[in-house]
Amino acid sequence: MSNAIYTRTCQMCGTVMQGVNSRKLYCVDCLEKRKKESNRRWNEEHQQEKKARQRQDRMARSRNTQDSDRNIAAVVRAAAAVGWSYGRQVARLEGRC
Ligand SMILES: [Zn+2]
Repeated sequence: MSNAIYTRTCQMCGTVMQGVNSRKLYCVDCLEKRKKESNRRWNEEHQQEKKARQRQDRMARSRNTQDSDRNIAAVVRAAAAVGWSYGRQVARLEGRC
């Protein structure tokens, strides 16, 4: 009997629904509320994921910047120690002279 109709009570507000499917749990109003609520929750969860990803990206980027800054500073110091220019020191490090 797939066309059977039932009288059900909304699981949220207790409204009696007549002539509905046997599996119907919520009235139209509560169904709408639940949809909005789950959308909101979904957005919240994914917002946090997005923020966490952005934070990680930012951290990775700033780490890279610091590393290359340190490298440049080290090369400049090494070059100054022997009286060379930064360019010449880099060229020497890279085996170009
Ligand atoms: Zn309801």
